[in-house]
Amino acid sequence: MKIYIASAFTEKERVAQLFERAKGLGFEIAGDWTIHRLVKPYEENKEISKQYAEEDISSVRNSDVFILLSNQEGSTGAHVEFGAALALAKEKGKPKIYVVGDHTSRSLFYYHHLVNIRKDIEDIFQELGNDNSFKSLEKKENMVKIGIIGGSGLDDPKLLENYECIDIITPYGHPSSSITQGKLNSVDVAILARHGKKHQIMPSNINYRANIWALKELGCTHIIATTAVGSLQEDIAPGHLVFPDQFIDRTTKRAQSFYDTNKVCHIPMAEPFCAKLRVNIIEGAEQQKLTHHKKGTVLTIEGPRFSTKAESHMFRSWNAHIINMSTVPEVVLAREAGLCYASIAMSTDYDCFMETREPVTLEEVLRVMHENAEKVKSLLKEIIPKIHHTECSCKEMIKASVIG
Ligand SMILES: [Zn+2]
Repeated sequence: MKIYIASAFTEKERVAQLFERAKGLGFEIAGDWTIHRLVKPYEENKEISKQYAEEDISSVRNSDVFILLSNQEGSTGAHVEFGAALALAKEKGKPKIYVVGDHTSRSLFYYHHLVNIRKDIEDIFQELGNDNSFKSLEKKENMVKIGIIGGSGLDDPKLLENYECIDIITPYGHPSSSITQGKLNSVDVAILARHGKKHQIMPSNINYRANIWALKELGCTHIIATTAVGSLQEDIAPGHLVFPDQFIDRTTKRAQSFYDTNKVCHIPMAEPFCAKLRVNIIEGAEQQKLTHHKKGTVLTIEGPRFSTKAESHMFRSWNAHIINMSTVPEVVLAREAGLCYASIAMSTDYDCFMETREPVTLEEVLRVMHENAEKVKSLLKEIIPKIHHTECSCKEMIKASVIG
């Protein structure tokens, strides 16, 4: 389905964002006027203006759906395209025309039978996506795109070739950071900084739903999450990598589901991490000869404070191996979104159970974290080209889990 989004010239940034959103939802864009209108040629060069207008009209002609955003004054700001869309719709019954906003201009009055007015563009996307945004996303079945949710030190855009930064807004608000998109050995990769680019967002305040939604919307099929963890076991020394296969949830303040209004979702969580993706990561670590633990239970606490000794001993008695503040609800939301999710946990220090050592300090954590970041970057470079679409059940589980 090809979509044309028209608006006032001054709103080109907003429209460019909506293009990204529409593309992420699996729609095609019929023409991108936000690019050629960056050079405002109207007064200076009538020939170029005419050429652009013709290009716009031909894009409108190719579109199935024409969406007009009204600007603050209530005028369309896109007279040429809107006129073309109306004429085509009247003559050929296509494109289907939507207007966003409380629009009462004269042209709408005369052509009201051709125009569908909606309050919000999200309503239109939802209508077009057959009431289920995620459903339309599954068109991109055979492509692989890897989302990296970078912990500290791992949101480095230099990992990627030809990268660009994209700001994206989701129904849950803004994700933690703009998303850096590019290629790593020819594979599409999108990197998100979990704590924000300046590490300014504390774990309880991370918008986990917006983060997962944004990566899904950009077409990611897999998420590799990197996370700094404390070790709860003597054999997991600082600097070791752990690829967890289980979690224990000790968070208290976080939204854990996309389904919190009309529907209820009971998503299976017996095996929370994608088994196939974990194998990719384990093989990569073996190839790179990195000291690692093939599995382990990660315990996620609410934070931001570290544990007491009593808590640390209790967590050990539960057979938890490592402790952090971010895996839950990230892994849960990824499962709801039908994404394969696995985690690379970097042990930075022993948690405070170890009586012979000084309790964990932030300074020590940061030092080991920087050393770990380099290891994980080389691991990512090793594994990403080897990730393929495999038959795993991560994508399917949501289908049988929603009630209502
Ligand atoms: Zn999977």
